Amino acid sequence: MLQKVSLGPKNIDKYDQVCNEGFIDELKELAKDLKGLRLCHINSTPFGGGVAELLLSVIPLMRDLGIDADWQVITGDNRFFDITKSLHNAIQGAQYPLLERTTERIYLNNNLGNAKELSTDYDVFIVNDPQPAALRHFCEERHAKWIWRCHIDSATPDEYAWQFLRPYVEEYDAAIFTMQQFVPQDLHVPVIVNIPPAIDPFSPKNLHIPRKLCREILDNQGIDKNRPLICQVSRFDPWKDPFGVIKAYQIAKEQEPELQLALVGSLAGDDPEGWQIYAAIHEEAIKDPDIYVYSNLTGVGNMEVNAFQTAADVAIQKSIKEGFGLVVAEALWKKTPMIAGNAGGIPMQMSGKLGNYLVDSVEQCAEKIVELIRNPQIGAELGVEGKENIRSNYLTPRLIRDELALAKKLLK
Ligand code: UDP
Repeated sequence: MLQKVSLGPKNIDKYDQVCNEGFIDELKELAKDLKGLRLCHINSTPFGGGVAELLLSVIPLMRDLGIDADWQVITGDNRFFDITKSLHNAIQGAQYPLLERTTERIYLNNNLGNAKELSTDYDVFIVNDPQPAALRHFCEERHAKWIWRCHIDSATPDEYAWQFLRPYVEEYDAAIFTMQQFVPQDLHVPVIVNIPPAIDPFSPKNLHIPRKLCREILDNQGIDKNRPLICQVSRFDPWKDPFGVIKAYQIAKEQEPELQLALVGSLAGDDPEGWQIYAAIHEEAIKDPDIYVYSNLTGVGNMEVNAFQTAADVAIQKSIKEGFGLVVAEALWKKTPMIAGNAGGIPMQMSGKLGNYLVDSVEQCAEKIVELIRNPQIGAELGVEGKENIRSNYLTPRLIRDELALAKKLLK
């Protein structure tokens, strides 16, 4: 059932080029005290979405720092993932129609099955998000430290769903939330810390590709490289408001008729809802030849996402709820100006003047699109400002530092 993910090595010293002076040395010093620590991250999918993206870099870099790190993925059938997607949505505040005794039992039986297979040879487990949250309850291991890592906006969860999940979370030694406002008020866990996610500047998705080459890659995808392009990269998910993006594009296009829109989305193994939304977006997109829809199923992988984020004139992330939104950091890292929903973890990434491009409505989003398409010099300044904020606060070594510091604290 549980599957270990195989990953190639990475070299932490390389990150010295981009991190603040002395940061990597400090991180190595911290890791020295934890050398040989057996740490296991657990989540519910090896591809698609932010958690998989994080672990792809965190695990090899931890290993290079001398930590004996592993990544294991729980398995489950469609029914289980239907339930967990609905639980995920409920923890973000949606109503939870599915919950009843049968669905609870399916969720718990799946966690029980995965727990039985979990090797207990670890000192620290970091369990990501609600899908595997009950593992700790069913796992016999009583010596390791258990951390629950919540990546979603859990500030105002559906009450019934949260009261179902809460006792399982409260069995953990610590919980991590991206920001303080996401911590539900009635949660009692001995240690609660706030750690925002981060991006890997050297991953194929984020390494520097010259913009001209990126425009060529997009040309190959059918985009007209001589006309303005806006782009949203995200899972096909209602919280990412893809239809709001289409509406904003349609309004902006009335003033900028040459405008093109690319919606680049991924479908994840633990996200059955994505398929329905993908189909609905496709229906909408075929009405307008300047709307393009791409996905990981049709060869739009990390390098292509990189090309879209680099070459777009403006990146959009019109989320209504957002735990963090790695895509915001990814686009800003490429100095692409961003217009984003004023939600959850997004504003912390939109520092300085970028704060003026946080939007609460379709109309506002359209207005900002027109402004940035017409004033590329404003966009260029925003891109420079955004990149510096990401460089100093949201790169993978900082995330590893925070996780290891927590592990050290718990093991003391
Ligand atoms: N992503 C991707 N291909 C796509 C759409 C998204 O690789 O077609 C990646 C995106 O680049 C980012 C992650 O999926 O690294 C999404 O993370 P985010 O935190 O933005 O949102 P989540 O999916 O976790 O809600």
